[in-house]
Amino acid sequence: MLWLRRCTMADNDYKGYRGEALSVLQNYTAMIWSDVEVETEAGTYKGIVLPRSETADDKHIVIKLRSGYNIGIAAERITNIGIGGRKEAHYKIPEKEFPYDPKKPRVKLLGTGGTIASRLDYRTGAVIPAFSPGELYGSVPELADICNLETEKLYGVFSENMGPEQWIGTAQAIGREIEKGVQGIVIGHGTDTMHHTAAILSFMVQNSPVPIVMVGSQRSSDRPSSDAALNLMHSVKTAAESDIAEVMVCMFGPTSDEYGLLHRGTRVRKMHSSYRSTFRTIGDIPISMVSRDTITPLRSDYKKRRHDKNVVINTAFEEKVGIVYYYPNMKPDMIDAMIDNGYRGIVIAGTGLGHVNKPLYPALKRAQEKGVAIYMTVQTLWGYVQMYVYDTGRDMMELGVVPCANMLPEVAYMKLGWALGQSESLDEVKKIMLTPIAGEITEREPSNGYLIFQGGIPEVEEFISKYRK
Ligand code: ASP
Repeated sequence: MLWLRRCTMADNDYKGYRGEALSVLQNYTAMIWSDVEVETEAGTYKGIVLPRSETADDKHIVIKLRSGYNIGIAAERITNIGIGGRKEAHYKIPEKEFPYDPKKPRVKLLGTGGTIASRLDYRTGAVIPAFSPGELYGSVPELADICNLETEKLYGVFSENMGPEQWIGTAQAIGREIEKGVQGIVIGHGTDTMHHTAAILSFMVQNSPVPIVMVGSQRSSDRPSSDAALNLMHSVKTAAESDIAEVMVCMFGPTSDEYGLLHRGTRVRKMHSSYRSTFRTIGDIPISMVSRDTITPLRSDYKKRRHDKNVVINTAFEEKVGIVYYYPNMKPDMIDAMIDNGYRGIVIAGTGLGHVNKPLYPALKRAQEKGVAIYMTVQTLWGYVQMYVYDTGRDMMELGVVPCANMLPEVAYMKLGWALGQSESLDEVKKIMLTPIAGEITEREPSNGYLIFQGGIPEVEEFISKYRK
């Protein structure tokens, strides 16, 4: 969130600007926080001059437009800058003490990083973490109507940097909080790999008595279209009030802010690089809808909230596991390299019903001989591996490749790491892999799973709206 205030001329400078961009600004005495009208060959832009990231180029001037969006304007294209006044941005979120109400449930928010825990640092232009109950309450006061919120920053990383150390640390923190008696847990996480973490937590945290809700945001909170506040409210409400004691992902349902969806941790995937409605339940329907006022389950076969503390935390994980995304003309050396580097498990995302080309077979045979566990998933994401349909599938099963039904490739990767972390015996690993424990394998894929409830695509919204009336 961004607060604007008038400020004194004493702060004036050209923070971060260098070279061509600096001389254009100086030419028109347009300083940082000046309210400007920048004329260019392409049109006129009205907004506030922002500090420039110290590591960015010296050819652009950054303006925060009236709409709240930032744009960079090439200095060489500027024909005039008119100055209307001066406003300084305050990007520090005012902290307010989170109120305590003994009648409200206790929710713990564990932060791992990502955009949801971020605000823009205008000095460097980078997104930096902002995370404390006070800051959250300062920016989303509605949270206090729902629960007593406690927060703990476990990590401050973008989610591509999450790995076994953080997954294990998060699972252990969940165990600790359940032991302390919280009624629900929210995990703030970058969206990019949220489905990976949701999957591994679904395996590492068994028999949770309370909801474990992962949440993120696609747009940082200084942007007008940010989904951070609403996602946070939905996730905190779910953690505090829902009876769904599973690992879930809570994010925008449709592109509009009409409702959020709760996706099962093993069936969810990030499917769009920029839409706020990026998370989709694959091959199934989401567990529930959630709005500010209500939680509306879409199914009843979820694990229910309990009042004991009998959670089981099993943080076993073998790191020597990888995913191979098959592509036509793949050479066997890809598999050979993994065998030679001591990998104990490989998940293949195969084409169609679960295929790879024939030249890979000798490498698969070698893997079998060396005791490397190979599991097949489908890169179509929707649907099941079917290795009995073609001879080639049967051949691969002969070579020890195990079909993973409708387990998503990333989920199979996580489960294989978890299973190999628990046993040296490939038979035991196979038993763990093929026994569904958190919805990762389902018997049937509902035909309406994607279209109904999930929204997000304008045509689908229109289609659904006809039936909603
Ligand atoms: N790159 C960020 C992350 O995954 C994006 C986000 O938070 O949505 O950490």
